[in-house]
Amino acid sequence: MKLPESARFSTICIHAGQEPDPSTGAIITPIFQTSTYVQEELGKHKGYEYARTQNPTRFALEQNLAAIEGGQAAYAFASGMAAIDAITTMLKSGDHVIVTDNTYGGTFRLFDKVLTKYGLEFSYVDTSRLELVEQAIRPQTRMLFVETPTNPVLRLTDLASAAAVAKTADIRLVVDNTFASPCLQRPIEFGADLVVHSTTKYLNGHSDSIGGIVVAARQDDADWLKFIQNAAGAILSPFDSWLVLRGTKTLAVRMAQHNLNGQALAEYLEGHPKVRRVLYPGLASHPQHDLAKRQMKGFGGMLSFEVDSFEDARRVCNSVRLMALAESLGGVETLMTHPASMTHASVPPERRAEIGLSDSLVRISAGIEDPQDLIDDLGQALG
Ligand SMILES: *Cc1c(COP(=O)(O)O)cnc(C)c1O
Repeated sequence: MKLPESARFSTICIHAGQEPDPSTGAIITPIFQTSTYVQEELGKHKGYEYARTQNPTRFALEQNLAAIEGGQAAYAFASGMAAIDAITTMLKSGDHVIVTDNTYGGTFRLFDKVLTKYGLEFSYVDTSRLELVEQAIRPQTRMLFVETPTNPVLRLTDLASAAAVAKTADIRLVVDNTFASPCLQRPIEFGADLVVHSTTKYLNGHSDSIGGIVVAARQDDADWLKFIQNAAGAILSPFDSWLVLRGTKTLAVRMAQHNLNGQALAEYLEGHPKVRRVLYPGLASHPQHDLAKRQMKGFGGMLSFEVDSFEDARRVCNSVRLMALAESLGGVETLMTHPASMTHASVPPERRAEIGLSDSLVRISAGIEDPQDLIDDLGQALG
């Protein structure tokens, strides 16, 4: 089986890095649940010595995701946070990083509560305004860490312009692409150096695994990530690697339905008298709808909406029947969250206000159910 050079996205998802098992012909890469490998004689082995360093199931996933994101190489980690942590080991004491102000809460916690202890400095900037990024650059700046669209207010950063700013300043552009998935947005094509994902979300897609991946566009970064993956050891397990591989095979068809359902729910909510405002990049009312059309191949399954008060938000969250009230996103089942009291409770109220995250905001991760069933559920919950 040889993947043609011209292979398109959904074909790459299914076939890249997937060779039939050489010993049996099994079409699916087996779960190599082993800690070590027997060597034929001293100094003679098949390239596999110890499973923190080498595992065929993990390698198959890493090759698959490197191709899906269009990078040189990919390295799989035990969680999205472990993947982000591995990227920060490219920095040293005294270095400065510019970060999207409304970044994932766990990323903020790692940067603010852990890495500042090691002399790293972080500036939180609205990266949708690149003049603010340029103003924040210092001689010690080494990295621009961007999330687009952001959680939960769906603000976008122009990736091509961010890459141009990073290139001029000779700093790395890192993009957390978890929310969009590579099906909708491929940051390396816009000039990003590194792409990181929580595979927990759309890549695995079935709410049954925690994992992370870093995809590198540059060979020197790939070499370091391979080194740190082995040195620090926060590897993805063989079973989780296999689950994510199973997930990426259906990424394109799942995302197509996530797009349809996200759009259907956003349009329904925008026309509902009890809804004040809907945030979804696929709506013409989104302030960055044109950028979304340029940069994304679809608008995804994530949307937020505002009702009149916290009481109303609470009532909606407690009244949904088909949708589940839960953190996380990107699975086949639709989830609802109240960011101010759940995912973003640790963000100080004044910061929440700055980014437009009010107590009356509700977030939906649209799954792939029939959209009419989701609309019916929202209708009864709002009614
Ligand atoms: C979930 C998430 C993470 C963290 O990933 P884990 O797998 O939970 O460690 C990082 N970034 C974004 C955007 C996320 O949604």
